[in-house]
Amino acid sequence: MNTLIDTYGRVHRNLRVSLTDRCNLRCTYCMPHDFAAWLPSEHQLTTDELVRVIEIAVSEGINEVRLTGGEPLLRPDIVEIVSRIKAITNAPILTMTTNALTLEKVAQPLVDAGLTRINISLDTLDRDRFKLMTHRDRIDDVFAGIKAAQAAGINPIKINAVLLKGVNADEAPALLEWALANNLALRFIEQMPLDAGGIWERSALVTADDIYADLSTRYQLTPCDDRGSSPAEEFFVNGGPATVGIIGSVTRPFCGACDRLRLTSDGQLRSCLFSLEEMDLRTAMRNGASDEDIAARFRKTVAGKLPGHGINDPKFIQPQRPMSAIGG
Ligand code: SF4
Repeated sequence: MNTLIDTYGRVHRNLRVSLTDRCNLRCTYCMPHDFAAWLPSEHQLTTDELVRVIEIAVSEGINEVRLTGGEPLLRPDIVEIVSRIKAITNAPILTMTTNALTLEKVAQPLVDAGLTRINISLDTLDRDRFKLMTHRDRIDDVFAGIKAAQAAGINPIKINAVLLKGVNADEAPALLEWALANNLALRFIEQMPLDAGGIWERSALVTADDIYADLSTRYQLTPCDDRGSSPAEEFFVNGGPATVGIIGSVTRPFCGACDRLRLTSDGQLRSCLFSLEEMDLRTAMRNGASDEDIAARFRKTVAGKLPGHGINDPKFIQPQRPMSAIGG
């Protein structure tokens, strides 16, 4: 088995796979409510193509795969995709990031297919704020999805929350209280300049320091050791064992230990969330490329990886491709 090491010595073990750029929510920090610039459906990788790329990635040293979107549960073949990934030799650890709107129906079939852990996006516990932030009145579906995931035995269930100034920035302690009461692992994520509308503003950012300070008004937070390549800084809450995570993508970048690559739903390999370049695997596969050719494209992508996202660099350029078409 090969290993994907870049010129900074970072070993890449984690592949984030966007299964679709479509979504059934319109989160204000991700896409405008009337967004319609979807990727051509004929460019979307088929189930066979997806599994083939993941098999090749595993042979190159990838041992963890996260299924993302858009919203991955919108793929009608989602259960088949999970079971076929779990059937790969040296099957990777498999997880998923979802908005859980339709999770209630598929939680058990996903577990039966081999899914063991999940991240669920939820930024508020308040119905009206949920509607304001997502342009959909579907918070009950998210709660039902979480319950179904717990009943199906998915563990851990992590909750990803993005805080916006003047919207839900005051909700950090309440979200943590709810997560602790429901045995859920909460992580706050700084909003990143990757929205389809191009509305991101540094001045509107709720920073990791802000979140830490706000939580510390109600909880004693002590750092957990051994972060490794994890994006989240984890803290024990009131001495633990419960923890809370803070992902300071912008103000506390963790690129130095990055082990992640990304595959878009239309078959483009990205060395970084903020890459301005992509490696086209889809066209290569559809033109008859061999597995070795695809593997070489993985190596070339990693070899060209930059040291970090460069968001804090005055010359930073926001990628054309929005987060919804890259995946978290
Ligand atoms: S911004 Fe890019 S380099 Fe930094 S951690 Fe994320 S994917 Fe890795």
